[in-house]
Amino acid sequence: MNVKIRKGDKVEVISGREEDRGKRGEVIKVNPKESRVVVQGINVRTKHQKQVQAQNRTVNPGRVKFESSIDISNVMLVCPKCNKLTRVGVTREGGTAHRVCKQCNSVIDE
Ligand SMILES: [Zn+2]
Repeated sequence: MNVKIRKGDKVEVISGREEDRGKRGEVIKVNPKESRVVVQGINVRTKHQKQVQAQNRTVNPGRVKFESSIDISNVMLVCPKCNKLTRVGVTREGGTAHRVCKQCNSVIDE
């Protein structure tokens, strides 16, 4: 699969959990093998941390929030140039592949 979403991209959730749909966030992790991405503030789960005994002090058990991965097909890239949801094209110049916004035809990658 040709992964066109990269770490640091801004994306919008277009399907999946209702509470996440329409939200935008930055991609903080991409797992191309499983076609999954982790997006800041999206699919936030709460992990209950067990009470930890450390140096005779008891650390309060807490709830840790973390982002769980979502399927890459549930997000669409937000073009940094025109701020629209877009599919990504690829152009090749001098042997280097650049991603291109299909809405405004701007090259997304510097
Ligand atoms: Zn654009």
